[in-house]
Amino acid sequence: MALGRPTSSNHIPSEDVKCVDTVIVGNGPSALFLSYLLHGNIPTYDSATHGPHPDPVLHSKLSRYGNRPLFDVTESARACEALTEHFHAATHMSYSNQALPLNVLLDTLVQPGADTEIGGAKSRLKWSFDERRRIGHVVLGSAKEAGGQWAEDPVNTSWDIETLSYSEMLSLPGYSFREHYRRRHGKAMPHLNRPTRREVANYYSSYPRAAGISSEVFSSVYAHRINRTQFGFSVRVYRKPTSSRPQCEYTIHCKHLVLANGIFTNVIPPPPIFLPLLNPENNSLGQQQRFKTLPLLVVGSGFTAADVIISAQPNQKIIHIFKWNTTRPSPLKGCHPLAYPEYASIYRRMKQSAADSTSPTSPTTPSNYEGFPNAQVIAVSGDGRVIKILTADGDVLERTIGTLKYCVGRRGSLEYLSAELRKAVGVLDAAWVSADTLRRRVEADLEVTKNVWVVGSLTGDSLVRYALGGCVYAAGRIMADREIPEDELIIQEAAAAGRRGSGCLVS
Ligand SMILES: Cc1cc2nc3c(=O)[nH]c(=O)nc-3n(C[C@H](O)[C@H](O)[C@H](O)COP(=O)(O)OP(=O)(O)OC[C@H]3O[C@@H](n4cnc5c(N)ncnc54)[C@H](O)[C@@H]3O)c2cc1C
Repeated sequence: MALGRPTSSNHIPSEDVKCVDTVIVGNGPSALFLSYLLHGNIPTYDSATHGPHPDPVLHSKLSRYGNRPLFDVTESARACEALTEHFHAATHMSYSNQALPLNVLLDTLVQPGADTEIGGAKSRLKWSFDERRRIGHVVLGSAKEAGGQWAEDPVNTSWDIETLSYSEMLSLPGYSFREHYRRRHGKAMPHLNRPTRREVANYYSSYPRAAGISSEVFSSVYAHRINRTQFGFSVRVYRKPTSSRPQCEYTIHCKHLVLANGIFTNVIPPPPIFLPLLNPENNSLGQQQRFKTLPLLVVGSGFTAADVIISAQPNQKIIHIFKWNTTRPSPLKGCHPLAYPEYASIYRRMKQSAADSTSPTSPTTPSNYEGFPNAQVIAVSGDGRVIKILTADGDVLERTIGTLKYCVGRRGSLEYLSAELRKAVGVLDAAWVSADTLRRRVEADLEVTKNVWVVGSLTGDSLVRYALGGCVYAAGRIMADREIPEDELIIQEAAAAGRRGSGCLVS
């Protein structure tokens, strides 16, 4: 590669990176795994080490490819479909019918039967390194450490909350969670281990160095104003100034673009009625101290609202307004009391509040928790301290509160793409994206427009275990597309820039 290599995980020397084959936007788990692949790490189906895959149909299909890399096996949307079309009717395994079949395929190869054999699942992939397959790339993420949303906390919940997934399901090939646990704690990781957010953040921030990809992973940088150019894409990169580093902005040219920016960056803001509660004058440090003993108002019915309640001090009074719909229940309903006691307990309280509101005579035990199913805040006093709540029964109640946590969801944004590129990937008008925004597109092909791939939670499969398939597909297609050698691309871009009167690739 004709380019100099960046040296530290937080600093891009602007003279070094001028042009690169692939830019990956985002530094979450999917971007990290894709980088591992683009470094030249090649997965192949392995039926020897632990025997054939337990699904004999899948084994037979994969065996036809002999020792060819998985990139060849998943070389087109059609090839992936042929491999996975029996999944819905498989009798030996139970496969997810929610996730994209390609993601289910990689999940079952990395951990066959993961849901029934936690800790015992044996990977049916073997890994080899092939320098010739290495693709020049950069991972550009705004989170301050590698790990994407795991390094961020826009809702301000506790870092000690345990994850929904067991460690194995958050693990990436190249440096496993199990290995990380052993390195940190000097002992084997227990089975059915639900790590804390802090531990997961620590695992992903350690991953680049441990997996040998840190030279290409850049944190605290924003990719924006991405345009299609004559030969690929131009990406403006902005790094925020800190006390030790000046702000920095420059352009990278690339041939391939991967969108791995996730769907959890932006918290959906509260509607205008809550404005007095957010007014900085009503929320100064002094005010917060004074009103700390007043109830915390939590709005939302999902995991984030539950996390806020779990993070509160034990004696904190909580007023909880949530949606309650038996045909579309809260996601907390799926939490088994043995596996997820903390979430199951909040669901129980919500359920009790719903029962109390429909049959007011049922006894309630005094507690710090007051739940209002399907209620609405209809007025907030100017100082933000007193709210009026319209309950599902039509009563209007007044409550004094200290703080608001509005937790009705998060979303990603593709605002960093030019309007033309946004339109090409299928996002019109507003740039907001959630799980279903790009789903139809990615079901047809993860290459949503020429040389642009979507991976990770942006595909609508938000769990880490279902991020791997899309990355293998994108890496395979990028590796296969080597018609324009990279140094030639630099010359071509330089010539084009010269023609435009700039004469310089990095600005
Ligand atoms: C509270 C919470 C709990 C979760 N728990 C689990 C769990 O237990 N198990 C599980 O499997 N999954 C869980 N998830 C789902 C989560 O989607 C995945 O764990 C995983 O983080 C998805 O990885 P990703 O690579 O798609 O992107 P993300 O981890 O979302 O990272 C994308 C990163 O890109 C950044 N970015 C956005 N725009 C730009 C830009 N223009 N330039 C540079 N960077 C940009 C974002 O700020 C973000 O840091 C949870 C999600 C949340 C919100």
